[in-house]
Amino acid sequence: MTTPLRTAEVIAVGSELLGWTRLDTNSLFIAEQLSRLGIELKGKAVVGDDRARLTNVFRQSLARTDLVVLTGGLGPTDDDLTREAVADALGLELVEDESITVSIRHRFERRGMRMPEVNRRQAMVPRGAESLSNANGSAPGLSIGVNAKLVVLLPGPPRELQPMLLALCARDGAIGRRAGSERLYTVSLFTTGVSESHVEELVQPIYATWRDLPTPIETTILATPGQVELHLTLRSADKDAAVRTLERSRDELATAIGDAAFSADGRQLPRVVGDMLRERNLTVAAAESCTGGLLMQRLTDVAGSSAYVKGGVVAYSNELKARLLGVDEALLTAHGSVSEPVAAAMAEGLRRQTEADVCVAITGVAGPGGGTEAKPVGTVVIAILIDGHPLAVRTHLFPGGREMIRLQATQVALDRVRRMLMQ
Ligand code: AMP
Ligand code: MG
Repeated sequence: MTTPLRTAEVIAVGSELLGWTRLDTNSLFIAEQLSRLGIELKGKAVVGDDRARLTNVFRQSLARTDLVVLTGGLGPTDDDLTREAVADALGLELVEDESITVSIRHRFERRGMRMPEVNRRQAMVPRGAESLSNANGSAPGLSIGVNAKLVVLLPGPPRELQPMLLALCARDGAIGRRAGSERLYTVSLFTTGVSESHVEELVQPIYATWRDLPTPIETTILATPGQVELHLTLRSADKDAAVRTLERSRDELATAIGDAAFSADGRQLPRVVGDMLRERNLTVAAAESCTGGLLMQRLTDVAGSSAYVKGGVVAYSNELKARLLGVDEALLTAHGSVSEPVAAAMAEGLRRQTEADVCVAITGVAGPGGGTEAKPVGTVVIAILIDGHPLAVRTHLFPGGREMIRLQATQVALDRVRRMLMQ
């Protein structure tokens, strides 16, 4: 029985990642996959295409951790040095792996091309390394056992790296095989319409009662515009017991939070509302001014939304509010385009035009200009017309800049539809 891999470090290789135009995102994906296996990421580094520096950083990582994952620098060109640096640090010779040369040559021939001689570099591997096939590119990955430790080299492009890492982390993969018996399990609860501190106040007394559990639950609270998320994580060797404990704990939180908790299974609000519409056999349409189609985009981002989304109108100008939605010019003059009578008229006009069961109208001041004392930036009026309910028109005031105001407007619109459909 080999010792399990418990800790890991990631080294992202590439000079472009040290500039200001490219960001290392591979380490995020790697962190997520390793965490699922209970392997804790202890550190990460970004290193330019510099052989000596990379050799040095890699040597340090390997000395203090069980698993080192390097990404990038496996291409065929002279600035791709990860193979060389790893071989230097481990005192291994680079030798040509003929099977890699053959498979790269085939890759070119399938596209009617000759393999450039430089690609032969990609077949040079530290002696004893195992190659990992790459379905989406020419650079193979490599894994090298070093005593009880493991070193993995993966190509930089995310679409090449991701399937290779998933294969490595599968039960029979080089990493998956060597993970310990403990795994991390996570559940989440999403809320909207309540502030982060309010949610915190509701859940803290419950967290306190969990302190005596045999395995501690790690709790995280995460606020994004219009949404507060709770994440519960448990490390365990017993999947069923862990999931039971987490689900029971999540349900306790959901009960305390009440209607503001809208998702206990990772579904985002547009999907939750979409599922409610589908179950009730209802259609939806939107008339948007200040959100410029964002509500329609969020609704239609959900695959299968054609089952309930009828469509919408972006009526940004007063002219189109009148022409497409039949909003009375007198109403616009008397109350202004950001007003409850206009939002109501937009929803009613939308109903006439689309005959959708659920009609949502949004008009507001997204800023940064255009605010007045009576209607400051962030003022958004949302009207919702649903069969069997009285027309619901409300004025909201959202904080933040233009993007945040627009996002919150769509979030509140969706949440108000959700709450009306629950009645
Ligand atoms: P390489 O394997 O070094 O030739 O990398 C090829 C390309 O992969 C780079 O130009 C980047 O676009 C991308 N890439 C490399 N490293 C990363 C990383 N850590 N995160 C995201 N993309 C990366
Ligand atoms: Mg590179």
